[in-house]
Amino acid sequence: MVAASDTPDGYVGRFAPSPSGPLHDGSLAAAMASYLDARAHSGRWLLRVEDIDAPRTVPGADRVIMGQLEALGMHWDAPPTWQSLRLSRYQSVFDRLLEQGLVYGCACTRKQLAAGAYPGTCSKGLAPGQRPRAWRVRMPQGAERFQDRWLGPQCQDVAREVGDFIIRRADGLWAYQFVVVIDDGDQGVTDVVRGADLLDSTARQRVLARLLGLQAPRVMHVPLVLDEAGHKLSKQNHAPPLDSRNAPAALEKAWRHLGFDPLPPLAGVADFWAEAVPRWAARFNI
Ligand SMILES: [Zn+2]
Repeated sequence: MVAASDTPDGYVGRFAPSPSGPLHDGSLAAAMASYLDARAHSGRWLLRVEDIDAPRTVPGADRVIMGQLEALGMHWDAPPTWQSLRLSRYQSVFDRLLEQGLVYGCACTRKQLAAGAYPGTCSKGLAPGQRPRAWRVRMPQGAERFQDRWLGPQCQDVAREVGDFIIRRADGLWAYQFVVVIDDGDQGVTDVVRGADLLDSTARQRVLARLLGLQAPRVMHVPLVLDEAGHKLSKQNHAPPLDSRNAPAALEKAWRHLGFDPLPPLAGVADFWAEAVPRWAARFNI
């Protein structure tokens, strides 16, 4: 764990893949944007394996991803971390929120919940004999506003649009939103650069960070890579893994996806980063 005080003014970015399979074109574009932004800031870039969702974790996929990143010339600046090794930390944060009355047990089944915001059914306590299935965190009223470095000003009223959301799932697993906020805080992450599918999580994560007394990182959400049918490329819909044997071509493809002009002919991956980092810095006035 790196305390925020170790890097008082320094940029700390991170790439946080879930080890459900190898990197593909979509995950590379997000990783690339995060890496470019860290290097353009002369910052540190951390690698965090988001293996909190044990049923979706594929044994060995973390090592495959690390091998792919190495082949692409993307080097992390501290030993990687694994969420599965931090369960006692998540439990202690949960216990603190519980003591503060900020979380409550929810007995609703999926069938009982309509689409849309959680209506707060269980927020005043459960009836005798009811058992909590999941645990929810209380959302304060009011709009959450923030600036996205790619997409511009954003606003979401979490209490109204999402409601008190789950931080411990009915299957006993910690929710993604919860562990990400704790990890970013503990690792002193100042900047999150990731795919636009996570834009919708940002307001929740910012409110949660504030409840935990943490500084929420700046954010940048980059465009998703879509397949021919317009769906997000993902391991779930069987995106083909990156071909690490032709790393410069894979990098060039992700670079074009991020909206940049082609680079001059490249001798190798080191060449790619040497050309790409200053262009990223120029585009974002870094
Ligand atoms: Zn409920």
